[in-house]
Parts: sequence; structure tokens; C-alpha cells
Amino acid sequence: MKYKRELACVDCGSKDICFGYAGSTTNVFVPSGMIVFHGFRTRSYVCLECGHINQYLPEDKLIKLRDRFKRRVG
Ligand SMILES: [Zn+2]
Repeated sequence: MKYKRELACVDCGSKDICFGYAGSTTNVFVPSGMIVFHGFRTRSYVCLECGHINQYLPEDKLIKLRDRFKRRVG
């Protein structure tokens, strides 16, 4: 499995993107049906080409979520 994915704008495919956090308070993704203490803090980026803003979970959090999800299902 390839872990180092290169993020690109989902709208126009540009790699000219600026990373940051969206919102005045930090956006947190809380998976339904799971007890997590703080949720998973999301990261955002804005495309400098078309202005599209997208949110995603950083890889370390994604790995944790996968782990939790597997344990819940299996
Ligand atoms: Zn774009």
C-alpha cells in the first residue's frame, strides 16, 4: 500500500495548494458509533488555482481510525 499520497485539488487537479485548518474552531471528525475522546482533527487545504476548499484526515489519524474501525467491526 502506498502511503505517501500527493494531495491535489479534487476539483481541478492542481497541486498548487495551501494547507491549514478551516473554521474559527478546529473541525473535528467524530465517527458515528465509536467512542473517541477527542475525535479526529481534520486538516484543510485551499486550492490556489480555483479556490476549492477540501478537508481530510492526516495520515497518522487515518491509521488510528482504520485501526479503531477494524476492531469495532471484527
Ligand atoms: Zn482547484
